[in-house]
Amino acid sequence: MNDQLFKTPIEYLKGVGPQRAEILKKEAAIFKYEDLLSYYPFRYIDRTQFYKVAEATPDLAHVQILVRLKSFEVIGEKQSKRLIAKAYDDSAEIELVWFQGIRWVEKNLKLNQVYIIFGKLNHFNGKAQMAHPEMELFSKENVTKGNLSLQPVYSSTEKLKQFSLDTKGIQKLTANVLEQLADKIEDVLPHYILQKYKLNSHKEALLHIHFPTDSKSLKRAQTTLKFEELFFIQLKMLRSKLLRTYKFKGNVFSQVGDKFNYFYENLLPFSLTNAQKRVIKEIRSDTQKGIQMNRLVQGDVGSGKTVVALMSMLLAIDNGYQACLMAPTEILATQHYHSLKALLKDDFVEIALLTGSTKKKERKVLFEKLASGDLAILIGTHALIEDTVQFKNLGLVVIDEQHRFGVEQRAKLWRKNVIPPHVLVMTATPIPRTLAMTLYGDLDVSMIDELPAGRKPIETIHLYETQRLRMFGLMKREIALGRQVYMVYPLIQESAKLDLKNLMDGLEVMAREFPLPQYKFSVVHGQLTAKDKEYEMQRFVKGETQIMVATTVIEVGVNVPNASVMIIENAERFGLSQLHQLRGRVGRGAEQSYCVLMSGVKLSKEAKIRLETMVRTNDGFEISEIDLQLRGPGDIEGTQQSGILDLKLADISQDQQILQEARKTVIEIFEEDPDLNLEKHQTLKKFFSVKRNGISLDKIS
Ligand code: ADP
Ligand code: MG
Repeated sequence: MNDQLFKTPIEYLKGVGPQRAEILKKEAAIFKYEDLLSYYPFRYIDRTQFYKVAEATPDLAHVQILVRLKSFEVIGEKQSKRLIAKAYDDSAEIELVWFQGIRWVEKNLKLNQVYIIFGKLNHFNGKAQMAHPEMELFSKENVTKGNLSLQPVYSSTEKLKQFSLDTKGIQKLTANVLEQLADKIEDVLPHYILQKYKLNSHKEALLHIHFPTDSKSLKRAQTTLKFEELFFIQLKMLRSKLLRTYKFKGNVFSQVGDKFNYFYENLLPFSLTNAQKRVIKEIRSDTQKGIQMNRLVQGDVGSGKTVVALMSMLLAIDNGYQACLMAPTEILATQHYHSLKALLKDDFVEIALLTGSTKKKERKVLFEKLASGDLAILIGTHALIEDTVQFKNLGLVVIDEQHRFGVEQRAKLWRKNVIPPHVLVMTATPIPRTLAMTLYGDLDVSMIDELPAGRKPIETIHLYETQRLRMFGLMKREIALGRQVYMVYPLIQESAKLDLKNLMDGLEVMAREFPLPQYKFSVVHGQLTAKDKEYEMQRFVKGETQIMVATTVIEVGVNVPNASVMIIENAERFGLSQLHQLRGRVGRGAEQSYCVLMSGVKLSKEAKIRLETMVRTNDGFEISEIDLQLRGPGDIEGTQQSGILDLKLADISQDQQILQEARKTVIEIFEEDPDLNLEKHQTLKKFFSVKRNGISLDKIS
């Protein structure tokens, strides 16, 4: 294929020129011919059928209806001036409204004529209404001549429109580019795969996505392009995984030694759950193979990931290696340090903490011990990745809260040794399987899908503002039993001040209801210095205060097993995964714990689903599935920066089936032909060296 042609600068396209090219680049990131080809319509207007006024529900978005115009008049003055027309069909009446261009519309409307009106239907006080409809006088010709198709709509901006690059303008350019390139568009997928999944050729798919003839051909084109998109992500990921197993030798942890056994027999304060045992076995098996381990451990809050991490690190140490654990925040790193130290009661393993605030002098000592191998375990933040941190022999890296570390950062850690260390990634934010496949497709996945025995599921209730007394009652009862309470206010992103005010107002009410000296509060919010925050937290941790009132800063890092109540104010403002994380702060001991979701009475549909979900289930995986459906993958925490989800067409939550098929196909290809040497896979092989049709697979591994 003449690849250069696809890379022709957009200014050379018929109908563009230098000025429009500038705008296209700036506003739509269209630089080359190929960019225009993949500037897909973001929706289609269905003009293949007419609706009746009465049956056209607002859910239908844009509809066309045949109506007869009954009357029209201009009402209101100045700003509120508008033209209102009444029209009807045999099912109901509809009101048409214009706020702009009134004079022109008024002049052209013809009473008692039948119109095809087109637009978004609303219901206003039970009446059907359409604002600024497109109108066309009805005639037989009109209906047969081209209205009967799916019209693509391209996203455009004010600037683009100024240069006549609205939907119609963009469509024209797309037609031009297709005319010039269509015969040169080659297939990207092997023929046998197209046949197997009944997909279009790449060329057909592009033609039909821009110029669909009917909804069936459109659907097939979309499926094809989505399949391609997901297929190549999987191809890239699984190939890099394959290469890694070829290329990167792994340290061999051949034995379970003294330290591991001593810990297991003498220090482990509980018996492991079956899930924990299974995951440790999986890690042990991985680390014996001589291949670098890359394993993701998913486990709900409180499922006991820390001890799994620790025992894996002991395994490394028993085999003569060092280990490190990396956490996303300083608070979390510090917490890990303390809980690991507590678990390792006897000082039979040396362990240290490195964060941004580690003093220079301490740092120096620490680095020396690290280089000599005296220091076995290092806990820290991003600071661990820095080049100044040199281990003698790093054998295992544990990353907590993986989703905040990118693939790039992981790769950087590998370079810390001749043989890259094994990597164990822990995430407490369960993510749906499909998302995991896309985000972490190159990792093996373990699940800790069982909570330690004796944990009582947290009881979650949703209360409205008017039921606040019940909440007070629950708090008093629990505090009387010697337990502690969290009370969390949402962070208001736009206004730290409003934030604080909310919290302070709440505190005032609370102080009246829970007077000193019987009740004591810790108060933590973003405006405090780190030192004050720490002081307030410590008072709560030590049990000196019974109620911790805080903004979401407490989300990570606090572990107070004696706390039994989590109250979330304005719970409707939180996302599902955040609610679930917060709830995970309680229920850490053996006693029954509670989560109270406080909300206003007026709730959006989505907020209702979120709160109902929380009340119904404690299962983080189920919650993450629902979160994905509600918000789409782009909003799921941690996915924004990954880039992998910059999908043009596919949608991880909607297109799970396509994703699974694409992944399965890729796995089968590599099983049959790991080096892509077969004739039928030559198209694929080429993608790893050159960029074609806008898809680049270079720079793998
Ligand atoms: P997470 O998976 O959220 O990191 P942690 O590792 O912090 O969970 O464990 C939560 C609590 O459960 C800790 O207090 C820990 O000591 C305890 N724990 C972990 N595993 C077990 C177990 N098998 N039996 C009883 N308690 C356990
Ligand atoms: Mg943890």
